[in-house]
This record gives sequence, C-alpha cells and structure tokens, in this order.
Amino acid sequence: MLIVVSGPGGVGKGTIAEILVEKHANLWLSKSWTTRPQREGEEEESYVFVTHEEFKKAIDEDVFLEWAEFHNNFYGTPWPNPPEDFDVLLEIDVQGAKAVTERGLDFLMIFVDAPTLEDQAERLRGRGDSEKEIERRIREGERERNDARDLGAIVVVNDDLDRAVSEISSIIMSNRSGE
Ligand code: 5GP
Repeated sequence: MLIVVSGPGGVGKGTIAEILVEKHANLWLSKSWTTRPQREGEEEESYVFVTHEEFKKAIDEDVFLEWAEFHNNFYGTPWPNPPEDFDVLLEIDVQGAKAVTERGLDFLMIFVDAPTLEDQAERLRGRGDSEKEIERRIREGERERNDARDLGAIVVVNDDLDRAVSEISSIIMSNRSGE
C-alpha cells in the first residue's frame, strides 16, 4: 500500500510522518531529494541534498516517481524500493500527490491540516518564516486544501500531535485490513 501524507506548510506533517514510521513496524518512509540547501540544525538525513544539475540529470534518468518545484527549489521522490511487505509512506506536497495520480498509482491520501489559519500562521512564525512568507503559505494552503479534496484525501486536523497520529494510525490499519 502506498500512503501519501500531505498538508500546508507548518502543519507538522514531517513530525507526524517520523512518528508513524516509529510506531508501525511495516512502514517505510521514502527519502526525498531536494535542491534546497540544508537548514541550520536540520539533520543531514532529512533529504538527499543535491545541486540543480544533479536533480535535472536524475529527472532525465527517470529516478523519480514524482517531482515538483516548490519555492524555486525542486523536490522529488525516487521510485520506492522498500523491503518486502512494507507499506510506503510519502510526505510530499499536494502537487506531488497529483503527479502520483498521473502515474496511475492508487494511494491512501491523508491531508494534515492546522486547526485554524491563525494556528498555522503561528507555527510558521515559530519556525522563523517572514510575515510575507507566512502570507504566501496561507494563500497556498487554501489551494492545497481544494486540490486535496479533489484527490479524495482524508483530512486529519493536527490539533494535538498524539491524537492526530492515533487517528492516522487507525486509518492506515483499517485500510491495511481492508486490502
Ligand atoms: P521543506 O523545504 O519545508 O522541507 O519542504 C517543502 C515542501 O516540500 C513540503 O510541503 C514537503 O512536504 C514537500 N516535499 C518534500 N519532499 C517532497 C517530494 O519528494 N516531492 C514533493 N512533491 N514534495 C515534497
């Protein structure tokens, strides 16, 4: 089973994805490539950090299941290669989820949303984004919400981290048993 976790910037989806793979033994988190520079304090392991040239070469060589341009940087998911019997978890933006659909693949899509727009803005502020950047992310969030709905996403509100993780875990488990 392929699972996509998406959601607007600053909603905590990266943290949720990390907890999910710790909780579920048979869940494999895909590691994306990006041309974005590593942030201060960000783990080396968060992404495969590459140059624009390396990324473009990888596109030509069909390394990616999907890729998208986001804020002048490229992000891509290599074709997954999980251990046998593992479900694959992708933490990608909504454009990426659309691209996976265009590949003809079926997936369970979870859209993690903030309880309110003020809450989303506050989280972005907390990680140091500028007011202009926050405004842009909030605007983009509206579009992402609509696109996610069109893709049939299940919306999970991250009002409380433990609660949101439990809700997503239940969704994953009920989809597994329904296979
Ligand atoms: P950030 O730069 O904050 O780590 O990520 C920016 C956005 O890119 C987030 O919405 C994140 O989910 C998305 N993203 C991360 N990896 C990928 C990927 O491989 N493909 C796509 N389409 N989006 C990604």
